[in-house]
Amino acid sequence: MLFVHMLLFECPGCGGPIATMLNCEHGSVEETDKQEIRLRCGSCDSTRRFIGLLAKRHFVIEWEFGPRIAGAVTMKKISAFAIPKRLQARG
Ligand SMILES: [Zn+2]
Repeated sequence: MLFVHMLLFECPGCGGPIATMLNCEHGSVEETDKQEIRLRCGSCDSTRRFIGLLAKRHFVIEWEFGPRIAGAVTMKKISAFAIPKRLQARG
């Protein structure tokens, strides 16, 4: 079984949103809370370390679509991206 954890962080540098996904064999939020994740902010370009616990939002989706990833895939970061400035909500 494959679970996709989607996490949304707030950049401590500029306050902008930083989103990432983790591809896990478990659906446990508590396990992901302990995971250290290195991410780059697309707004201010700073790179920082986060732990899952600091996420503003954390969604877990049981991934039942498409081919399964073969072998043991545990807490592997499959992508990291930042929301471009033009897509951020305007104050
Ligand atoms: Zn930033």
